[in-house]
Amino acid sequence: MTQYAALTAIDPNPGTPAARVVNYPFASPGTVAAAPTCVGMGAIGVTLNGVVLYNAVDARGNDAVANEIVDVYGGHPAQTDYHYHSVPERLDAAPGADRHSGIIGYIRDGLPIYGYHSVGGAELTNSDLDVCHGHSHGTLGYHYHATMEYPYTIGCYRGTPR
Ligand SMILES: [Zn+2]
Ligand SMILES: [Zn+2]
Repeated sequence: MTQYAALTAIDPNPGTPAARVVNYPFASPGTVAAAPTCVGMGAIGVTLNGVVLYNAVDARGNDAVANEIVDVYGGHPAQTDYHYHSVPERLDAAPGADRHSGIIGYIRDGLPIYGYHSVGGAELTNSDLDVCHGHSHGTLGYHYHATMEYPYTIGCYRGTPR
């Protein structure tokens, strides 16, 4: 992140990603709780490629996607912890026969997060989803979706995070 002078002037991120083993236990399958839970800072889930998902805000409480610089893969480090604040579109590459996105990862409440598209292939917006950024349809049960709009991944935990 420090090799790009113009970008470093905007977002001086001194971190360098480092490989490490992390363990985030969650219920499987996740279930919807009686009431949602707020998301905190740090890891809120993990994508199938092993990269950790953070929520939509940076340490100052601003929209991280709008205000922070990411690398060509869509992530950046916090110290050594490489993470995403939104789902890189290339991870949304395995739609089902109904053109609904495939699973791109799991949230800490055990519920899956899918890509950008609903049944038929239409791109979802916040108005298609509930306050936690999910919905329930067909045989999928409750699940989250990524969108291009803030909060990008989830707005709250619909299940119980561990
Ligand atoms: Zn970040
Ligand atoms: Zn869906």
